[in-house]
Amino acid sequence: MFFALALAAAGAAERSRNAFEFDPQIVARSFRAFAGDVSVRWDEEYFYVESNSLPRHRMMVGIRAWNRQVPIPQPYIGDNAFRFPLRPRFAKNPISGKESLFRGAIAVAANGIPIFNPIKQDGRTDTYLAGELDEFGGHAGRADDYHYHIAPVHLADRVGAGLPLAWSLDGFPIFGYVEPDGSAAQGLDRLNGHSQSGGAYHYHATREYPWVNGGFRGEIEVRNGEVAIQPRTRGIRPFTRPLRGATVTGFEQLENGAYRLEFDLHDRMHSVSYTLLPGGGAEFIFTDGEGKSRTETYAAGRPRAGGGKRMLRQGRRQQDQGLRPGRAGAPRN
Ligand SMILES: [Zn+2]
Ligand SMILES: [Zn+2]
Repeated sequence: MFFALALAAAGAAERSRNAFEFDPQIVARSFRAFAGDVSVRWDEEYFYVESNSLPRHRMMVGIRAWNRQVPIPQPYIGDNAFRFPLRPRFAKNPISGKESLFRGAIAVAANGIPIFNPIKQDGRTDTYLAGELDEFGGHAGRADDYHYHIAPVHLADRVGAGLPLAWSLDGFPIFGYVEPDGSAAQGLDRLNGHSQSGGAYHYHATREYPWVNGGFRGEIEVRNGEVAIQPRTRGIRPFTRPLRGATVTGFEQLENGAYRLEFDLHDRMHSVSYTLLPGGGAEFIFTDGEGKSRTETYAAGRPRAGGGKRMLRQGRRQQDQGLRPGRAGAPRN
């Protein structure tokens, strides 16, 4: 039986001091505003969230420390969906995002976009402070997979008052800067969570580190430093190296699976135009500040992290910018 407690919006009931139960019908409300882009389902144990990883808002603009990755759709569907438990339990030893979880998702936003640890895979860089994130707190990772690294507070109006902006993969909801009733969030622990009197444990967004859940208060299986069961990304090209001095200034989603990203480098406008191919690959056209272009075409990857990366054809490389592809199959971020 489910109760509507102080956290009515999240449909939580406390089963005991350390165990909770969420009503999947009420959890589904978090995602309802994005029903066209996000699908949800559940079973006895888990709640599942499916998306193609691309939000409706503008991506990439505002990034000052750019890794040269771009957003391409990801197959977060079927058995590659996000999932979190409907009956979360407190862990004996909560996991801090300062010590682990530097790869992969730690939460999923109401619009189906994964949220990663604010600290990236080097274990020390705060992506937000380093200028790696766009105006919505996201960027594209090594598999050209778009994800956030901070709480998606920009979703608050769309999601609706009192509903969580995201769900942590340990099964607890993530609210914005305030409580569901609009009052200030007080007494947060080091993971940005707390238990309201009579309500279930939950996390909050903050305007400083950890920005989102700073780890997991709930039980969750972590393997090789990441949440063990979570969607795999599908990369179609070797990952790229950071381009020092570049600022992403424009991003457009054109028709028929075509995208165009513009960036400023040494006061010159460069661009990356790319088109998704019917078979799952993509064609990239890189245009430099002098208008010179080169083309790279990649076949479809396999649906796993750092997937297949067979390059079909490649134009002349620009040596001066060190456009060397990275190692295949590397950790995401
Ligand atoms: Zn709270
Ligand atoms: Zn990232």
